Amino acid sequence: GDLADRIAACTRVVPDFPTAGVSFQDLGPVYADATLVRDTAAAMHRAFQGRFDSVLALEARGFPLGAVVAQRAGTPLVLARKPGKLPGTVDSVQYGLEYGSDRLETQSGALTPGAHVLVVDDVLATGGTLEAAARLVERSGARVSGLATVLELTALGGREKLAAHEVFAARHVT
Ligand code: IMP
Repeated sequence: GDLADRIAACTRVVPDFPTAGVSFQDLGPVYADATLVRDTAAAMHRAFQGRFDSVLALEARGFPLGAVVAQRAGTPLVLARKPGKLPGTVDSVQYGLEYGSDRLETQSGALTPGAHVLVVDDVLATGGTLEAAARLVERSGARVSGLATVLELTALGGREKLAAHEVFAARHVT
């Protein structure tokens, strides 16, 4: 059936996780379905076909999807990691969380100036994570071709924060 419907059938909504009042969208069953991972990656590739030459995958659930997209497109895969995971010189951006802040890092030189980068993650919620990833790309002198996720939680308004960029989500939830 329709890709969004298949993702919906493989999404578990977990109430009050990780904190009270939050409905967590658990995409575990999506990743357990090899055909669904392949088809989701294909949809991401199609949405930006011919317009990117690198994939930036975000820790952690952007990694497996970004890897499949990069394989399909025949492009390099770059990992954006949480602080302290990457050896050597890193480029780093800070972003706000509901409580406190976090950072995303890439190894310096992994994203080359002039590269056209597709950023891949699992969920777009408030947009803070993807906005930070886009800044990381631009800091390297590369360009953001687009932002791709499996799921977009539209009620959180993340798209407004990402208005400068083209966003693709394989499924939307209000
Ligand atoms: P944002 O920065 O608020 O857009 O949150 C996006 C980041 O938090 C992504 O890296 C997601 O992995 C994670 N995230 C936020 N909400 C959910 C959810 O409901 N299910 C799974 N991951 C989520």
